[in-house]
Amino acid sequence: MKPLELLKHEIDKCVRCGTCRSTCPTTKVLGVETASPRGRVSLVSAFSKGEIGLSETYLKHLRECTLCGACRTNCPNYVDTVSIFAAARAEAVEKQGVPLAASLAFRGLKDSGGIVGIGLKIASRLQGLLFKDASAGPGLVSRFSLPLVGNGRLVPPLAKTFFLDLPEIKSLSGAGEGNRPRVAFYAGCGVNYLMPWVGTKSIELIKRAGAWVEVPGGQACCGMPAYAMGDLASAREMALKNLEALESSGADFIATSCATCGHGLKAIMPELLSDDPALKLRAEKVASRIRDISELLLNELGFRGKGCESGPKTIVTYHDPCHLGRAQGLREEPRELIKMGKGTVLKEMKHPCLCCGLGGGLMYTNY
Ligand code: SF4
Ligand code: SF4
Repeated sequence: MKPLELLKHEIDKCVRCGTCRSTCPTTKVLGVETASPRGRVSLVSAFSKGEIGLSETYLKHLRECTLCGACRTNCPNYVDTVSIFAAARAEAVEKQGVPLAASLAFRGLKDSGGIVGIGLKIASRLQGLLFKDASAGPGLVSRFSLPLVGNGRLVPPLAKTFFLDLPEIKSLSGAGEGNRPRVAFYAGCGVNYLMPWVGTKSIELIKRAGAWVEVPGGQACCGMPAYAMGDLASAREMALKNLEALESSGADFIATSCATCGHGLKAIMPELLSDDPALKLRAEKVASRIRDISELLLNELGFRGKGCESGPKTIVTYHDPCHLGRAQGLREEPRELIKMGKGTVLKEMKHPCLCCGLGGGLMYTNY
């Protein structure tokens, strides 16, 4: 990944036209220039020239960005704003270090069977003591003020049994007889710890589309939370661990049901390992086999809804995750899958591409 000093030409490409302002979710909410892409590029430019220091105000404006990439997509001068903001965060972390809580979390997420994995298993048993169902929406709120969580913040419940521990996943045998495509499934933290049913349903669909599925061991977090927070050392370690785990699988494709994991493994993993040309080459080979579940089912396995059961008329809308629509160019495939549901009607929402607000660590730094 390029350090900030090598991105000077990108910063200089910004002509301060302000076209990006109308697409930025944080400008829409906060309404000030420092919360706009143009404002942030100006701040990073001033920092890189030594005109301003590493102040809390500078960091606040940097951290308020969700790294959604809408500004980069809409910039007429093709300024790589996301790389500029990510490099600026990494430089700040290099100088100031990683906050303790984030550092502990990232250390643990390098290994799903490690100390954080064990801690999360205990937490999933005890979560009822510390949290209760939220009346405001799906999720939990803490019964007391807790570090990192505070009061009133909605948190997703941990699964009772994590995806990688499910007996049916542990006993998956992978390839068998016949000349079917082989798919390795990468879970990621969201599917593993929070939504295992997304993983089991994905595997059911891959099998229904006619492929063999296996779940390679040794998977780590995709590294995107650490990358977004500027902790490149942790993100790189995760990238290396995933490279080794996924490379050893000889599957034709590696599928994920998480937009962020897909973008992380396709584009960011090779970037994080680019300091070593041999590792980068290996990472690019693995990245070329990564597919989002919708892309795999439609474009690679030719799934056309076989086995979809009729149900009552259901209206469904769809929100494009930034890391799927914008980063991977996959907008039609998820919509096609929704339309395969018999009785399902897809009704577009307003602004389906507007960032959900979860990206770039914003949920932790500015709830
Ligand atoms: S980032 Fe692009 S769109 Fe935004 S002000 Fe600079 S040149 Fe204009
Ligand atoms: S990446 Fe998204 S949130 Fe950040 S400045 Fe660009 S448009 Fe705004």
